[in-house]
Amino acid sequence: MTRPTEIQINLDNLKFNIEKARALANGRKLMATVKADAYGHGIVPCAKAIGGRVDALAVAYCDEAVALRESGYQGKLLILEGPFDPLDAQQINELQLDTVIHTMEQIDLLAPLASRGLQLWLKLDSGMHRLGFTAKQLEDAKTQINRLGFAKPVVMSHLAQAESPETVLTLRQLHNWKAADTTGMESSLLNSAGISANLGADSDWLRPGYMLYGGRMTPDIDLKPVMRFSSQVIATRDIPAGDLVGYGGTWQASRPSRIATVAAGYADGYPRAAGSGTPVWVEGQICPLVGRVSMDLITVDITEHPTAKIGSPVVLWGPELTIDRVAQHADTIGYELMTRIPNRVPRTWIGVEQRDI
Ligand SMILES: *Cc1c(COP(=O)(O)O)cnc(C)c1O
Repeated sequence: MTRPTEIQINLDNLKFNIEKARALANGRKLMATVKADAYGHGIVPCAKAIGGRVDALAVAYCDEAVALRESGYQGKLLILEGPFDPLDAQQINELQLDTVIHTMEQIDLLAPLASRGLQLWLKLDSGMHRLGFTAKQLEDAKTQINRLGFAKPVVMSHLAQAESPETVLTLRQLHNWKAADTTGMESSLLNSAGISANLGADSDWLRPGYMLYGGRMTPDIDLKPVMRFSSQVIATRDIPAGDLVGYGGTWQASRPSRIATVAAGYADGYPRAAGSGTPVWVEGQICPLVGRVSMDLITVDITEHPTAKIGSPVVLWGPELTIDRVAQHADTIGYELMTRIPNRVPRTWIGVEQRDI
């Protein structure tokens, strides 16, 4: 028998979320962020499902774009970190990629390609202080690319705390964004959190990632989880009150308890930081994780779930139990959990026909 632990990707749910994002975009253009293997969902099948339904796709760097082009995706494709070296510049040209530019050095790298019709996306550092030009440098960059003969760039920026529209940081970033001169140019600001918070800042392009995979920024927006991480109960036992469970004996039964062992652990992408009490879906009911997460296994208290037995289906996260809830118990965010599923766990894709793109 094969180990029952698997990742299932529901492309119909991805499609559903795209339609939600499109409705929120309200006529603005939609760029789906598919970096990091589509947040762990598989870049090629995801692009096949959504490529024709969005105006562009975005990845982090050149090599992530190669797989997409090789799979036949010929649409607009942006690399968010821009080129690192002349080889990247060559690839940007060959693969016909749009590229973010956040340093003068990157303009130098691309200068020989000025006549090749590349679309540059100039990045403004509006206050996150990670990537991008200051407002003054942005003007110099515009002058420089104009002098070299590039087409008009798109101006973009990124928000550090878009989920909190009223904070000093967000207000400062929005102020800096509005102050930037984008006359005659397209612009792009909002990620999932910015879209969900309905920040209303002007821009032509939206760049959602997380929400497309059903990650929930706010309960107000109806999104469907795309990833289901599932396994099964592979053993059960009854233990007396006072006994300890798992490595280090960190959890002690306060009553006679029934413990289920599930075939998923931190080497399968389940976070070791998830503490006792983290919700686990066991055949229709949420039960608390107890004891430490092992490499290949977790233990769950099924005392209140008398019908759970060997072979009972378990969902670690998915439509039955949101990844955000699990992430909270592990002191992290759903983004990290999604992108850290190792190859060890088999992935399957269901939903929409795999039409050609
Ligand atoms: C990853 C990324 C996004 C998408 O962010 P989400 O929070 O997943 O919506 C948008 N813009 C940039 C620059 C990014 O790096």
